[in-house]
Amino acid sequence: MNPVADALNVANAANVPLTLALSKGRIFEETRPMLAAAGVEITEDPETSRKLILPTTNPNLRVIVVRATDVPTYVQYGAADFGVAGKDVLLEHGGAGLYQPLDLDIAHCRMSVAVHVDFDYASAVRQGARLRVATKYVQVAREHFAAKGMHVDLIKLYGSMELAPLVGLADAIVDLVSSGGTLRANQLVEVEEIMQISSRLVVNQAALKLKRAALAPLLDAFARTTRANA
Ligand code: ATP
Ligand code: MG
Repeated sequence: MNPVADALNVANAANVPLTLALSKGRIFEETRPMLAAAGVEITEDPETSRKLILPTTNPNLRVIVVRATDVPTYVQYGAADFGVAGKDVLLEHGGAGLYQPLDLDIAHCRMSVAVHVDFDYASAVRQGARLRVATKYVQVAREHFAAKGMHVDLIKLYGSMELAPLVGLADAIVDLVSSGGTLRANQLVEVEEIMQISSRLVVNQAALKLKRAALAPLLDAFARTTRANA
């Protein structure tokens, strides 16, 4: 610790501008109450506003609205000081330049392997068949099947993975599941759970040092609400 830098940090805490990166939808909605615990309200609704930079009731804190998969990138390069991202997204990104202090215990789901109801996954695995797997999560999928000693051909998709087995693009998909409703609606079944997913707080490593005093009350509020909900 550097006492001079610390004193400067404290003195400047009130005037250090901070940028928080969030994605629309469940992460935005579930992060909102955590900010409220720090006395901060986001004054515009990203679902109705076309703005990508949203002000908050704290003049030193703004929220940027980006694609879920882009949150770690904005934070890594310091365009945002901190953000909220799913474990799925963080594993694909790799986490370079990011400090991940807290599992926020929000936006829960699981990452799973799913196949068409008519596809016998168990016997394909037993027979050592080479499967074609479509997914947005190629890193996690590659590691999962390698650990099982299975040979797979991965096909990278960017969305609507459920379609792939229905039209013969793939034998299986690796995707996020929460209720299983989307799988059922498309005659797919979950055959293997790879991991449980929730969202984490990510902080730019340089910002953590240089803007520590300004970030601290917000990080503390996130930690408090996470514990309170546990
Ligand atoms: P985009 O729609 O911009 O391509 P996305 O589909 O990854 O991005 P969301 O659907 O908002 O964005 O999901 C954001 C995060 O919410 C995911 O990365 C994941 O961590 C979490 N999540 C929780 N449950 C689900 C679910 N059932 N399906 C998808 N994501 C989920
Ligand atoms: Mg989506």
